[in-house]
Amino acid sequence: MAQISSVSDVDISRYDVLIVGSGPAGCSLADRLSAKDVACLIIETGRDGYNQDIQTAYTAMDTRGHFGNQHWAQHWIRAFGGTSMVWGGWCAPLDEQDFDAWPISLSDLRPYYDTAADLLKLDRVINSYEADYLPGFKFKPFRTVIGAMRFGEEYQSFLTDAGRVDVLLGTTVSGLHPNVARSSVSAVTLHQPDGTERRLTLAEHQRLVLAAGGMGNAQLMLNPPPSSDTGVGNETDQVGRYLMEHPHYIQTAALVGRRRLAPPAPPSNFGEFVPNILADRTTYTKTGKLSVAMELVEREMNRVDRVERFLSDKYQGDFVAYNINVRSEMRASPDNRVTLAPSRDPSGLPLLKTMCMAGSDTVRPIFDVLEELGKTVLSRDIGRVFIHNDTLVSNPSGGGHTMGTTAMGSDPRVSVVDANCKVHRYSNLYVAGSSVFTSGGSANPTLTIIALAARLADHLTGAA
Ligand SMILES: Cc1cc2nc3c(=O)[nH]c(=O)nc-3n(C[C@H](O)[C@H](O)[C@H](O)COP(=O)(O)OP(=O)(O)OC[C@H]3O[C@@H](n4cnc5c(N)ncnc54)[C@H](O)[C@@H]3O)c2cc1C
Repeated sequence: MAQISSVSDVDISRYDVLIVGSGPAGCSLADRLSAKDVACLIIETGRDGYNQDIQTAYTAMDTRGHFGNQHWAQHWIRAFGGTSMVWGGWCAPLDEQDFDAWPISLSDLRPYYDTAADLLKLDRVINSYEADYLPGFKFKPFRTVIGAMRFGEEYQSFLTDAGRVDVLLGTTVSGLHPNVARSSVSAVTLHQPDGTERRLTLAEHQRLVLAAGGMGNAQLMLNPPPSSDTGVGNETDQVGRYLMEHPHYIQTAALVGRRRLAPPAPPSNFGEFVPNILADRTTYTKTGKLSVAMELVEREMNRVDRVERFLSDKYQGDFVAYNINVRSEMRASPDNRVTLAPSRDPSGLPLLKTMCMAGSDTVRPIFDVLEELGKTVLSRDIGRVFIHNDTLVSNPSGGGHTMGTTAMGSDPRVSVVDANCKVHRYSNLYVAGSSVFTSGGSANPTLTIIALAARLADHLTGAA
């Protein structure tokens, strides 16, 4: 078997793990599990290739607050390979301090970041490289990729080869059914567009992993089973909360001054990159504990700007100018959330509604970090930082990074999954993807998603 076309052909007894979704989280997990001889079934709404009708029918959303205009829907691609079929491929690991609110630390994830780099065919140096910049700041670039990996292409073998991974395309998991004690998932309902539906009962040893994207994981857990008003895993009303993006404020500041402000160059094996500076641990703590990535984009001197002309003269031509693009962490808030809308997708799952605002607790630390950078260059008389207030308080754009809707934590009252990505109180239900992020840092999420999936594979096989 490889690709299964109908739910009626599924022999569930063949599988140890059922995975909902075939994006980077689902494919990486299946890759790692199959390498350990664990049999998996991936269930995926989409087909092999993008289909606009499927996309529209399954992801339409009622969007309020920042990141409107179907932002979240357009960043949740329903196809084999999931959203990786359109992603940009930028990668960086989270920083040590980004894990302060998580029940795991960077050291728990370090070996898995290397596995993630291997899976993405990137040099492991992307996980370790950073360099000093000015006092209080460090240089930590994002790895960029021309021709980013499309998981639907990379893992075509799942569709064609008789291995340990089978794939059921064009099929939506439309319901999770708990046992009476709500201590495990006893069955799942699968739905196909021709109306075929089948309820699969899980055996004691089988595990169910939701890898349906930041929206899809919440959608499945918010949707109450028949004769209940509470979704599986949502017993403490935490599912859907802490929705986060990475607010992007493009050209929101400028750094001008002496050439020594030029960012360093990473080693050649790092590959293509975006030059970012970040606050070090001390500045991060002083400015409100929010990760703010500042991309330096070199530009010409603005000759009509009197300060820039003055500085260029003063430094006798030893002068550089950069625009700063900010890509920031967003403060996790329980009020930024995804909830169920009254309308339904073709499988019968309720569609979603979002409310998400980047508030002053996100924007103020960005001002503070930029001001700290300004103070640092001014006190050394090596340059100036200009902050464009209007850009920083305007509607931010985002990276298509949907994080935080099934947050990881040790307290079930304020989180959904534990340190092993297992849903609190459920013995056989796990979540893979950026919905488990407790905080988002400022790094693009997918390298971390893959690292967490690799760690989950070890956990499920008793290796971690
Ligand atoms: C334009 C764009 C650019 C991006 N660039 C970057 C970047 O440069 N770097 C980076 O790190 N990230 C980037 N991202 C984000 C990145 O694509 C996501 O982080 C990543 O794809 C998430 O992986 P995932 O497997 O968790 O979810 P997804 O890739 O969204 O996959 C989820 C899959 O689950 C399926 N599914 C959902 N619900 C169900 C259900 N009920 N039943 C069956 N199947 C279901 C969906 O159809 C989908 O195929 C970008 C995103 C976009 C849109």
